[in-house]
Amino acid sequence: MKRKFALLAIAALLSTAAAVPAEPSPGSPGLGDPLFPTLGNGGYDVRHYDVSFDFTPVTYDFSGSVRFTAKATQALSAFNLDTDGHTIDAVTVNGGPATWSLSPGQSGQELTVTPAAPLPEHVPFEAEIRFHGNGKAPRAGLTGWRFGPDGGFAAAAQSSRADTFFPVNDHPSDKATWTFRVTAPEGYVATANGELRGRRGGVWTFEEREPMASELIGIAVVKGTYLYGEGPHALPLRHVVPQGQEARYAPIVAETAGQIAWAEARFGRFPFSTYGIHVYPGYSDALENQTLSLFGTGWFDRPAYSNTMVHELVHQWFGDSVTPATWQDAWLNEGPAVYYAALWAEEHGGQSMTDRMRGVYAKLDQVRAVDGPPGRPKALGGYNIYDGGALVLHALRTEAGDAAFDRIMRRWVQRHKDGNASTEDFIAHAAGTAHRPDLDGFLRAWLYGAQNPPLEGM
Ligand SMILES: [Zn+2]
Repeated sequence: MKRKFALLAIAALLSTAAAVPAEPSPGSPGLGDPLFPTLGNGGYDVRHYDVSFDFTPVTYDFSGSVRFTAKATQALSAFNLDTDGHTIDAVTVNGGPATWSLSPGQSGQELTVTPAAPLPEHVPFEAEIRFHGNGKAPRAGLTGWRFGPDGGFAAAAQSSRADTFFPVNDHPSDKATWTFRVTAPEGYVATANGELRGRRGGVWTFEEREPMASELIGIAVVKGTYLYGEGPHALPLRHVVPQGQEARYAPIVAETAGQIAWAEARFGRFPFSTYGIHVYPGYSDALENQTLSLFGTGWFDRPAYSNTMVHELVHQWFGDSVTPATWQDAWLNEGPAVYYAALWAEEHGGQSMTDRMRGVYAKLDQVRAVDGPPGRPKALGGYNIYDGGALVLHALRTEAGDAAFDRIMRRWVQRHKDGNASTEDFIAHAAGTAHRPDLDGFLRAWLYGAQNPPLEGM
């Protein structure tokens, strides 16, 4: 009792000292990401998004709403969302009307919402934005819309394009859980991340219960067919393939279960409650949308398509479950995805890892000078992040030994599951896990140096 009383007295003293609450001010219009300074917004932390998205194929018209619960991380007089290509129809905060305005952003627009009363710090609030637009209308920034010959679409929102579907806090550091209610007319199917909870009157409801960054949304309305399977320890698998091509893709998507078992042997349990791939002719690349990786049909004309399937699967741990703190940390996504896909290839009759990494070593020095080193890239999408990131892991493995390397990678995805982590976190984690303080300087030289450090066998 006495102890409790003393603590209460201290708490009272502290609250007296901090009795003057901060004056409410607008949340910042960006989070200061080194590569995308105005991406995301400050002053609040989204907990859950509930997105309704009603899409009409062929005309590409859509309307919808995004309702989210968030916690104010400062006293807010106003806050921003990222948006691009929407007509805003209505905005409410805590059920009451709010005023709003649109202004140009670095990529897309900033939607500034001013609630009727300021939002106190640390207190949860709810906001809802209703909107409409057209998928093919011009966007201020890069669009995430991908259109197939079926009159449908699939979302490829990485890295800053989720805001072309709905207003959102579009930075990977603000992960949230999600509900998607996607409307698909007769003859089409809807997709989204997570588990399908039900279909009613053309509305498909999905729940993604593990936190997800907005860049990984997997909404689509397509002429597709769901194919089902089972992964290790009864993990439910569901895939979406083009209608009429079920026979071609059934054996391909069936390879997923074995790939998951291969990855689980290295990283531990698959981090989400379901997985699958969406094969869509309207897309030409491959993307690790959380629980539902998106692939263009073109990949499957190549003999080594399984390398790409493994690349996107590895991202479910590295990138999706453990998400980079900023976009400058993107080598933490692409390095492991390239590295383990190369390991998979080597084990399945492809190029040896040593030969492959010798080639990367030769090329990376020039790339460092132009595009920046793997840990400080000047932009996304480059060789420095992808193959360069894989070479950093190869060097770490060579230096630390196989057993320590495997421990570093496995414990990394356990330690930061459902969270965000930075390059600095990885350096500290690797040195600590291997009990090798010298790995700090070793990794810094590889990640931030202007030239490749020496490496045995190169
Ligand atoms: Zn990748």
